[in-house]
Amino acid sequence: MGNDQGYKGYNLDEAEKNRILSAFQMPDYQSRPVDEAAISARKAQDPAFARWMRVNVHPHKNPERAVIDITVKGTDRMPGDNTADEMDKLADLTERYSMDEIRVTFVQNLVMPHVARADIIALYDELVAMGLTQGLQEMASDIICCPGLDYCNLANARSLPIAEKVTERFKDPALREAIGSLRINMSGCINACGHHHSGHIGILGVDKKGVEAYQITLGGSTSNEASIGQIIGPAVSGEEVPDAIETLVKAYMDIRDEDETFLQTWRRVGKEPFKEALYGVA
Ligand code: SF4
Repeated sequence: MGNDQGYKGYNLDEAEKNRILSAFQMPDYQSRPVDEAAISARKAQDPAFARWMRVNVHPHKNPERAVIDITVKGTDRMPGDNTADEMDKLADLTERYSMDEIRVTFVQNLVMPHVARADIIALYDELVAMGLTQGLQEMASDIICCPGLDYCNLANARSLPIAEKVTERFKDPALREAIGSLRINMSGCINACGHHHSGHIGILGVDKKGVEAYQITLGGSTSNEASIGQIIGPAVSGEEVPDAIETLVKAYMDIRDEDETFLQTWRRVGKEPFKEALYGVA
């Protein structure tokens, strides 16, 4: 059935089609002319702002607006944790800058979908004051992590303190940008609430005869070409995880082709170079 408006395969009558479309109306955006010269000038003076603009600010259908990722990650917090005071402040910012709409993402971050570009500098300054510009979206410190053994009865191993140590290793934003797109996900047991299986690097807490240990997987992805991460070798101890992740990232940086992401390198070269870097030659 279908028609020529993108409903191919669905037998929808006009009334049903209009009912569905009515749920996806664009908000009533007031025109807010933007001073792009002021944004460019700030980028030139402030490398942190320039980096945040490159990584956390995304184009919008309306050229006067932007979609902004607020990465709730950093060395001052557990992944995805906001305090009650921060939530109050974020509610206020959402009202003022994002037409009262904010969303929580499955990567434990927040998105403001309707920010006027005219307000970007003001919003950035407010987020800096809250410590919410430390994280860079989809980069090494933007770790998804479940509560693990500290808070979950089902866990095999702790996850939050391990994620904290890994985050610490990648706290330099210039290093994170040099590494590029890298999703690290961690779960405290096979239930996979931290989506370890779909991380470019996955860390899974396991119980080895009563001792906490961590299995490392590589190559998971939730992109259109989705894949499940593959175990690359024997589990390591909690103390060894940060070194192991650093070793794998270094191996990637050594063997990547120009502009190749971690996932692309993994798909090109496969398991062996990473396994060798982590466990040595057999
Ligand atoms: S993955 Fe396991 S440990 Fe983590 S929250 Fe889920 S059930 Fe708990």
